[in-house]
Parts: sequence; structure tokens; C-alpha cells
Amino acid sequence: MTFLDSNVILKVVDSFRQDYKVKLSDLHSAYIEKEKVVKVAPVKNGQHLTDSWKVYGDSLYDYVTILLDEKLPYSSRMEIHPSRIIVDIFGATSNTNWITQLSSVKEIKNAWYEQPEDDVMRVIIELKHQQHWGYKIFYSENNKLTVRVRRQPTVLDLSHLKIAIDAGHGGDNIGATGVTSGIKEKDYTLLIAKELSRQMLKKKAKVTMTRDKDTTLSMFERIQMLDQQNPHLLISVHLNSSSRDSVNGVSTYYRYIGFRPLSQSILKSLLQTGLGEFGNVGNFNFSLNGPTDYPNCLVEVAFLSNKNDEKKIRDPKFRQMVAAKMVAGLEDFLKHVSQ
Ligand SMILES: [Zn+2]
Repeated sequence: MTFLDSNVILKVVDSFRQDYKVKLSDLHSAYIEKEKVVKVAPVKNGQHLTDSWKVYGDSLYDYVTILLDEKLPYSSRMEIHPSRIIVDIFGATSNTNWITQLSSVKEIKNAWYEQPEDDVMRVIIELKHQQHWGYKIFYSENNKLTVRVRRQPTVLDLSHLKIAIDAGHGGDNIGATGVTSGIKEKDYTLLIAKELSRQMLKKKAKVTMTRDKDTTLSMFERIQMLDQQNPHLLISVHLNSSSRDSVNGVSTYYRYIGFRPLSQSILKSLLQTGLGEFGNVGNFNFSLNGPTDYPNCLVEVAFLSNKNDEKKIRDPKFRQMVAAKMVAGLEDFLKHVSQ
């Protein structure tokens, strides 16, 4: 449903196997893993009123901050045409009559609220640019809910961007295996990721990788690493597998609609390799499609369960072409954004 900052107050109303059911507002509930919850003494029940807001920028980001009297749960989503970030704050009733907006903002065009339900306050942040570049929601001091908005980079060229590349699986986690040769997904995602890194570096991009060896990494560790690296964009490389050996082709995946254009450009470019089209898949619940911080795209290059796809993946020349098409797709995306 959403990522929550730590120390958010949730009201537990039921228990179901490994999860608690929590009440967010009169009409909304959610589930959360018990191991992520710490019980505290009951907090103030009933209405939570919101205080004043501030909309401003520093040298790197734009911010919307909202003073609350408690760390209330929230969920967020992206909208396109017009591009907006929508944050619902559960349990909050607006008492805000003061939204200070400073000229230091560069990406936020407008910020306002609606009260769709008595105990749900909706924050609407309208962006200047069509493309979403990401945002992060967290609490800073004094229960101040903060939405930190990433600005569109001023120079939309690989030489000015930091690109994160994630090679899927690794170490104990081998992933899929080749249907005729038994090759391991983890080895070939790394080969493609390294080739992609080489070609990005040639374009003078800054490149970070979640792994450049045969390392075991959990999804949580990858997300934390990416949080540190703070890239402009992320590409995750995987190889697909199906129980039906006729299924083949390339596919790209996104979770949030605002990040779809990146995955579309990369797929369009990769189709020039001659691979079949498995498709562009939305709303995908892959861990590394989860961060809202930067546009991200999962690429499932081809099916290791399909003989023809497998043969292609084993060919170093083909992998070079795959990497080149990913770079070209990324450049197409940047060109399209700057138009
Ligand atoms: Zn995989």
C-alpha cells in the first residue's frame, strides 16, 4: 500500500497470522507485519488537527512541511496530466489556515489540501514538469510531516546524471536457470549489468551498482544501499522464466504511473534487438519498483525458460547489444522529457 517512516502511530484492531490489522481512519484499514510493530502506551484518541504548512526549497530539493500533533499514518500516489503528488493523511482534520509559500521552490507549482473525509486530509502537490523525478515522505522534528520533492535535473544528459544499476539475485539466490544449459540468472544479470555500466561510463554518466560480484543481498539491503547512493534513476536487470517453454520476449515493469515513461522508452529500444514483446507491465509489486525516490524500471531481458531466448542471452555480442539498447532507451527518455 505504501512505505511508512518509522515511529508512525497505528491503531491495532485485529490480528491475522503474521500481520496486524490497523485502522487508519473511519473508512480505511491496512495490514502490517507484526515484526515491524512496537507496542506503546495508548495515545490520545479522536481528532488530530493539522497546523500550518510551509512550502520552500533549498539548494537540492523542494519541500512541503505540515505540522501535526502526532506522527499519523499516510499513503501517497502519483498522478499524471497534470503531474501531481497526492498524500492522504489518515486521522487528520484540517485546522490549517496558513500555507506559507516561498520563492525558493523550483519544482512545486502549487500546494493545497482537500478534506475528502472527516478524518482524512488530502495534500495535493502540483509539479511544474510533466515528468515525475521522485519524492520521499518522512517525519522531521516536532511531528512535522515532510514531503521532499526531487526537481527535474537541469541538464538532461547522461553526463550529468547518476544512474544506479541493480543486477538481480546473486550469491545464495541464483534466480532462474537456463532450460537447456542450466546457466544461472544471477551470473547473467551481473554480466549484463556490468556491460551496461561500461557503456554508461563511456557516456560519462556516474554509475553505481548494488553489486559487482556474486554477492548475496536482500531486497531491504539493496533499497538501503540505493537510499545512500541517491541516484537520479534506477535500472534493475533480471531474466525471466515461465512454466511454459514457448513464452518468450522482453518486458519492462513499473509500479507508479509517474515512472512509466522510463520503462516504455527502454522497452521500445530493446525491441530493436529482435526479442519478442512480452510487454510493459504496470502496478508491479517488485521491491525495487517500490521506492518513490527516483524513477525506476525493472527489465526482464528475456526468458531463460525459452530455448531461443536462452541462446541469445549466452551470446556476449547479444548482451552488448542489449546494454546498448538500454542506454539508447534511457537517452530517448531524457530527450522526450526535455521536449
Ligand atoms: Zn529474477
